[in-house]
Amino acid sequence: MKTYKIACIPGDGIGKEVIPAGQEVLQALAAAGPDFRFEFSSFGWGGDWYRAHGRMMPDDGLAQIRDVDAILFGSAGDPQIPDHVTLWGLRLKICQGFDQYANVRPTRILPGIDAPLKRCTPRDLDWVIVRENSEGEYAGVGGRVHQGHPIEVATDVSILTRAGVERIMRFAFKLAQSRPRKQLTVVTKSNAQRHGMVMWDEIALQISKEFPDVKWDKELVDACTARMVNRPASLDTLVATNLHADVLSDLAAALAGSLGIAPTGNIDPERRYPSMFEPIHGSAFDIMGKGLANPVGTFWSCVMLLEHLGERETAARLMKAIEEVTADTRLHTGDLGGKAKTADVTAAVCQRLKNR
Ligand code: NAD
Ligand code: MN
Repeated sequence: MKTYKIACIPGDGIGKEVIPAGQEVLQALAAAGPDFRFEFSSFGWGGDWYRAHGRMMPDDGLAQIRDVDAILFGSAGDPQIPDHVTLWGLRLKICQGFDQYANVRPTRILPGIDAPLKRCTPRDLDWVIVRENSEGEYAGVGGRVHQGHPIEVATDVSILTRAGVERIMRFAFKLAQSRPRKQLTVVTKSNAQRHGMVMWDEIALQISKEFPDVKWDKELVDACTARMVNRPASLDTLVATNLHADVLSDLAAALAGSLGIAPTGNIDPERRYPSMFEPIHGSAFDIMGKGLANPVGTFWSCVMLLEHLGERETAARLMKAIEEVTADTRLHTGDLGGKAKTADVTAAVCQRLKNR
């Protein structure tokens, strides 16, 4: 029997609630019969680790998880620690250390979910946003001088490399090609950002020639927000820089009903390193520790994890169970206007996996 090694990093806030729920669901899947099992290892990295050790994860942390088949991640963000410390000290350390350069964010309106766009049927909104995940605005290049003085200067320099843009464009065109509509929208801002984004556009055109069967267009990022709201069915696969896609994907999640549902995968397409799967939401300080978090974003991330492992049939089985549960509004958590708790939703999904 095959064994998949999964590293679980709950992190902070509701990460500590939704990741154990995800583990429970994966165990229920394995118990229900497929020919594999999971071996979990858990890592208590994050805000608590920081308070005890002065950093978010141990110096040899990456080496400790280097050989797993996949990583399931919760959230980095603690009310007592500055956000840039928690983010750079844990999540970005893993994404960048393992060169997970493609961040993939599917969005759909699941059954039973009341999405805010009244003129939009679930069929009109079926997107995948590909986020460049290794450079751009979040390259970490910049600094501060003259701190605290009137002449203080602070910079964040966006870095776009030809190699980095070519590989994300190729990944996005390939993903678009694998979907029924074979359609890609390249999000840009080359009117205002006249160096990096102009190269981005040029490379999009160059890579498009390798994919003659993919229809593609370009959209400025600001116009793209309006298009997502006004003409959702005109979009299918999108590719955007680190910052642009970060913003667009929160909008996408909200348009599909809730941030608590949206999943993501931080992928190393070359499989040199383990890839990492996580709900896109953060630590949710306002509801943490109360058992109120929606675990669906984590469950859908588990679907992506299974697909990445090549377990397509099992992934589809989990997605079906998730959709059966969202279809029942009695099983909606507070973010969806319901009263269900994390544990209720988790138990309902596990039950459906057992009864198949
Ligand atoms: P957030 O996603 O934590 O919360 C935004 C709102 O959505 C809150 O009202 C929250 O209650 C609600 N929400 C989010 N997920 C939910 C879920 N699963 N179920 C029910 N409701 C949910 O975003 P924020 O408030 O901007 O950030 C809080 C902290 O999390 C910050 O420290 C931030 O840096 C961090 N953060 C981390 C990540 C990550 O690790 N990937 C992502 C986003 C934010
Ligand atoms: Mn974000």
